[in-house]
Amino acid sequence: MTSSCGESSSGTVLLGNLGSCQSYGKPFQVLNLDTLIQMHLKWLSYLPRVKPFYAVKCNSTETVLRTLNALGTGFDCASKGEISQVLSLGVKPENIIYAHTTKPQSHIKYACAQGVNLMTFDDEEELRKVSRCHPKAKLVLRIAVDDSSSFHRLSSKFGAGLSTTGRLLECAAELGVEVVGVSFHIGSKCSQSLAFRQAIADARSVFDTAKLLGFQFSLLDIGGGFSGKDFPFSEVINGALDEYFPFESGVQVIAEPGRYYVESTFTLAANVIAKRVIMEDMRTEGVPERLMMYYLSDGVYGSLNFLLIDGQVSPYLHRQAVESSEKRYRSVIWGPTCDCIDKIVDNYLVPELHVGDWLLIDNVGAYGISVSTEFNGFKRSSIYSVVTNETCILKNFYQYLNTAMKAFNLQQLIYCTF
Ligand code: PLP
Repeated sequence: MTSSCGESSSGTVLLGNLGSCQSYGKPFQVLNLDTLIQMHLKWLSYLPRVKPFYAVKCNSTETVLRTLNALGTGFDCASKGEISQVLSLGVKPENIIYAHTTKPQSHIKYACAQGVNLMTFDDEEELRKVSRCHPKAKLVLRIAVDDSSSFHRLSSKFGAGLSTTGRLLECAAELGVEVVGVSFHIGSKCSQSLAFRQAIADARSVFDTAKLLGFQFSLLDIGGGFSGKDFPFSEVINGALDEYFPFESGVQVIAEPGRYYVESTFTLAANVIAKRVIMEDMRTEGVPERLMMYYLSDGVYGSLNFLLIDGQVSPYLHRQAVESSEKRYRSVIWGPTCDCIDKIVDNYLVPELHVGDWLLIDNVGAYGISVSTEFNGFKRSSIYSVVTNETCILKNFYQYLNTAMKAFNLQQLIYCTF
């Protein structure tokens, strides 16, 4: 990956011109396609039975969507806008799940007109809406699961309680609506693999109820919630799938990972646009302590929106490896807007920075750019994609397409054009 603005290390293809960013300090993000592809390869090897439907909401950057489409993933869309975006990139309707349980009628009608049939529900009212607006829909019953080990808990808002699923299925039968399977979402940033195991067991019990009521379920959707850094749960998930949904059952298993694919794929470069030095009363050897205040060209109203809810970031200087002996100052790093909640990091020990310096922040791909605003008139960061020649033209690229073909039985190779 490039390590400095406007320059690329040898063997790296930089897609875009960084000129304007350099002149004006406008923030930009580097999308590392090698990482995106590696994450996909890792998915295939760790969860070979589970076809990923990437959650578009997490980061809808076109290059991400195009690359994942070429790799053969499906897409989880939450609205007409997301469906229309992926369809415009050539994604086939059958590779989309409209995974939102509370949908506007006009969006359901749009999905119907586009041939997007797979969608989730968790309530009778939604069943009635879908039966009116999309008679050919194939519905997936989303259940609420124990998400207490997740950072973002979704079951308080979505998902039918297990005790209500029988009644919902009877209602679907009365309305003549087709229900084909079960979905759940364990919550984002799940920390306990056993939560997945329990949720898969819960889904099994709904499959059993459905069978008694005359349904032939064929789809299990294990949702999102996968870490963006590692893959700690695969053993437990594969074990639970083998136990409750053995391969011979013929049940197709899909997932809706968002953070997993993109968190580590994006790095932000933000510029130091202003600086203040506060002399504090605290003294070291008779000299007042200095508190450094830096103001970057991007912040929590922009690419670092996710900081308002979770996480911490560790900005680092791009220009050189910092000597361990270099003096560090207690620093506060702020975003560019007039709002005081626009704070990136507090009490951060860094060598002195100067106006014009570029700071890099890794792992900003999940729920960053997609939630960013232009509050105070600060423009969203631009995105530049990089990919190494090795990935682009050598065997890795073809190898992964072959793997994708085998895993998902793709009929033809689709080449990615960047
Ligand atoms: N699917 C649904 C229905 C969601 O609501 C979300 C996130 O909110 C996701 C998938 C993606 O979750 P994650 O980014 O944790 O994988």
